[in-house]
Amino acid sequence: MPGPSGVGAIRADLLSDTVTRPGVAMREAMAFAEVGDDVFGEDPTVRSLEERVADLLGHEAGLFTPSGSMANQLGVRLHVRPGEELIGDSLAHVVRAELGAAAVLSGISSRTWISERGRFRADDAAALMVTGAGPYQVGTALVLVENTHNFGGGTVQSLGEIRQVRAVTRERGVAMHLDGARLWNAHVASGVPLRDYGREFDTVSVCLSKGLGAPVGSVLVGSAAHMAEARIWRKRFGGGMRQAGMLAAAGLWALEHHIDRLAVDHARARRAAKALAEVAAGTVDLDAVETNIVMVDVVAAGWLPAGYVAAALDRGVRTYAAGPGRVRLVWHLDVDDEATDHAIDVLAELLRTPR
Ligand SMILES: *Cc1c(COP(=O)(O)O)cnc(C)c1O
Repeated sequence: MPGPSGVGAIRADLLSDTVTRPGVAMREAMAFAEVGDDVFGEDPTVRSLEERVADLLGHEAGLFTPSGSMANQLGVRLHVRPGEELIGDSLAHVVRAELGAAAVLSGISSRTWISERGRFRADDAAALMVTGAGPYQVGTALVLVENTHNFGGGTVQSLGEIRQVRAVTRERGVAMHLDGARLWNAHVASGVPLRDYGREFDTVSVCLSKGLGAPVGSVLVGSAAHMAEARIWRKRFGGGMRQAGMLAAAGLWALEHHIDRLAVDHARARRAAKALAEVAAGTVDLDAVETNIVMVDVVAAGWLPAGYVAAALDRGVRTYAAGPGRVRLVWHLDVDDEATDHAIDVLAELLRTPR
């Protein structure tokens, strides 16, 4: 596999679960997809994907979007009026990694609570929520939950905590949006049916282009009325697509073939985590490895993240410096057992020999 410019062959690409490339069968499904102009609602494959995802998550309707960020921002747009706020944890993708889109596209503010590894707790949300404050304080219109939690390290959220805050938001007229970019991983790891997660939220976004391995696309689901409104905003955001059935076909193929196998990614991530924890105590918290993501505290082994990432890349293992002291490893469809073995050898050896 050719690496990024200036870098040798990459033997294990743990940068992100977005780096997967569609296989032959998926490409065939794309090539032969029935298509039409989806802006006129005439693409049967897009329709079928939207219906399929809505059904999986227990919602009335779905909307195909070019990215997870757009699906999230449509959710924000539906629930929060200009001048109101959303609340979520400080590591949330919507807050940190969508480049201020909620402020720019919806004219709203965001407030955050501090979480432990992105773990959602009903009390954190309830304590920050402001409703009925009249013309004196910003009103909370939306509570945001991310499952699994990306920067938290693939954390699976507790359905009990979600239900608890749902009871509060229902009473206080606050909406709930689930950023479920990796909800598939949460479902496979916890055994909780997708619908049980889905039904606690007004809207849910899911990514097809992460662990499921499709090249492009996310889906937002919610009520038929919300999706009709989201369709208008999607066009306004520049996300109206024409013969998008070719992309939707990849998503449908992935839903059929790539959900259950996420358990294999989880097992490989766990195997690597154990190996690294053994060679360098304190670098990996095994209790925190719940799905396909492993956070390595390289500082505990005497490294700075940038140096560690560079040294690993030199040896054919691509990783990501994910913040103070930590390097993120992500397993996915294109990292097999052999690549996992190579990654373990390289990453363990580096942890043993600090710079
Ligand atoms: C990747 C991701 C998204 C969406 O990302 P896009 O690159 O816009 O598709 C949203 N939320 C989380 C938690 C993610 O990891």
